[in-house]
Amino acid sequence: MNFLKRFGKSVDGVVKSVVTKSKDISGIAKLNSEITKLKDQIENEYSEIGKNAYQANVEGVEDLKMSESIAKIKSIFVQIDVKNDVVLVLKGITICPKCGEELDMECAFCGKCGAEIERDV
Ligand SMILES: [Zn+2]
Repeated sequence: MNFLKRFGKSVDGVVKSVVTKSKDISGIAKLNSEITKLKDQIENEYSEIGKNAYQANVEGVEDLKMSESIAKIKSIFVQIDVKNDVVLVLKGITICPKCGEELDMECAFCGKCGAEIERDV
């Protein structure tokens, strides 16, 4: 899942600003551990949803907290995808917008499907 495709330039801008802050290789390890933490947060939210849904059902009320949890999870997924994209940039890898193949940053065309790789450098 590559959010750059879906959110376009706004996320692209975020990625660039993060990249300039963490150019070195150790940044990759740091990002990966941040991604792991974010995934843990999502697991916590999932269990919150379950707990709240159960509680609401027992009390016979509407589960008002669920949409809040879902919004939180969605925003964490966006953060994870941004960080994943930054990891790819740091590794010098880009993703083909058409087929999702991992490609070298310098590629002008996808080696798998032949799509042109756009770069705004
Ligand atoms: Zn491709």
